[in-house]
Amino acid sequence: MKLSIHGCRGSIATSSPSTQKYGGHTSCFELTCENHQIIFDAGSGFQNVNFSKAHTSYVILSHFHHDHIQGLPFNPQIFDPNNEIVISSDLHDHETVKKNIQTYFSPPYFPIDIVSALPNIKFAPFDAVKEKLNEFYSLNSIALNHPGGSVGYKLTQKNKSLIYLCDNEFEADQRETLTAFAEKADVLIWDGMFTEKELVDRKGWGHSSIEQAIKFNEEANCKKVLISHHAPGRSDQDLDSIASSLPELFVVASDRLEIEV
Ligand SMILES: [Zn+2]
Ligand SMILES: [Zn+2]
Repeated sequence: MKLSIHGCRGSIATSSPSTQKYGGHTSCFELTCENHQIIFDAGSGFQNVNFSKAHTSYVILSHFHHDHIQGLPFNPQIFDPNNEIVISSDLHDHETVKKNIQTYFSPPYFPIDIVSALPNIKFAPFDAVKEKLNEFYSLNSIALNHPGGSVGYKLTQKNKSLIYLCDNEFEADQRETLTAFAEKADVLIWDGMFTEKELVDRKGWGHSSIEQAIKFNEEANCKKVLISHHAPGRSDQDLDSIASSLPELFVVASDRLEIEV
């Protein structure tokens, strides 16, 4: 599987001279394998996804906070009726997923109702997507700790696996189940919006710390950990300094980074 990061900024897209290196697009992670395309979240980075015409593309949403869906209608390729895009989430049934997307992308918040205007965008129950992909992948989910809820995902292909855990406020009572879910994965994408020091004043905001990722991986033993959902104010210099303090298996995620899983 190939992982392409199109967005790894938390909460709001940022653009300034100090965010050029790591990028400012909000969450969007694309996995491709043998012409299949699975995209976790459709933040502003979604505008740079290149759709595969040969197959249906699956957009799997963790939750519906704006930074995880806002890029959806800004990818010009979704206006091509030959691009079939299936949107799904294990947070809600597919009718609720459709209603949430339709509400956000219709007047007065958006000029047109994209769900009615684009019949190539479809909504499917999460179990149906799981079953459809089952021949090639196993796709599993886990409930996360976030205001309004969020869902983490695990995608396994043959003996390779990727874990996507954004957005999540890590709590001690998640340790056992999350560790079992993520154990020995090839890539773990972690919500590292805060440092341990910052987290003290941000309890209940729904995000974890970078230090929690290090502690978590002492037990989970993932082969690579990507720190993601960077705080909007975090500059390239800040992220460079965080990167230099991390253990060897850890990487600070950046837009346009590609990783072979
Ligand atoms: Zn978020
Ligand atoms: Zn959120």
